[in-house]
Amino acid sequence: MEDWEARAERMVLSQIEARGIRDENILEAFRNVPRHLFVPEGLRKWAYDDNPLPLGNGQTISQPYMVALMTSRLDVVAGMKVLEVGTGSGYQAAILARMGAEVYSIERIASLARSASLLLKELGYPVKVRYGDGRLGLPEEAPFDRIIVTAVAPSVPSALMEQCALDARLVIPLGFPDGTERLLTRIKKGERFKDEWGEYCRFVSLLEGTVE
Ligand code: SAH
Repeated sequence: MEDWEARAERMVLSQIEARGIRDENILEAFRNVPRHLFVPEGLRKWAYDDNPLPLGNGQTISQPYMVALMTSRLDVVAGMKVLEVGTGSGYQAAILARMGAEVYSIERIASLARSASLLLKELGYPVKVRYGDGRLGLPEEAPFDRIIVTAVAPSVPSALMEQCALDARLVIPLGFPDGTERLLTRIKKGERFKDEWGEYCRFVSLLEGTVE
């Protein structure tokens, strides 16, 4: 099989750059993070394909383009403090860390939090993974310059809005009663928030509480 760097490069060219994401910091991160290590062993040969993959526990690692799109909406600059809700495999967190962000990531399923934390450490990404209900954010580390939620909710959890720094951006998929889901970028301007609506999408649900 072709080596992973070549597969990652092809993924960047045909799935990410070709769809309009040109930010070199983002593209560089996707070339350098070994996505195959974040998917279950039996699925590695599909790791760089143009679709999401199951992680077990009913959860999924998002399609590479969706990770890139959300990263681009987040508008991350090195040194920013970023909170991710929904660690899953840890892939999105690794991309953000590779871009130089200081990343905190919360996961509600203990086994996923543990395995993502171990893998990120092994690969040298300094992500702080926390086990808990990310709907509550991480008050002890707030405020955050950027917040990304990688699970779908009916509305933006109020704790997350409260933990936004000045000029913060929050990216989250919101779900509507008719079953559609759409990416929302909420930007803090002074005491107010401005909303920008993006693409339709499909995510697993943001759930209450934790799973041992
Ligand atoms: N960002 C992940 C993909 C996440 S899938 C990646 O790159 O692989 C969504 C994840 O959100 C799942 O692991 C799910 O368990 C988690 N999740 C759902 N509700 C949550 C909550 N309230 N707090 C923290 N994590 C949550």
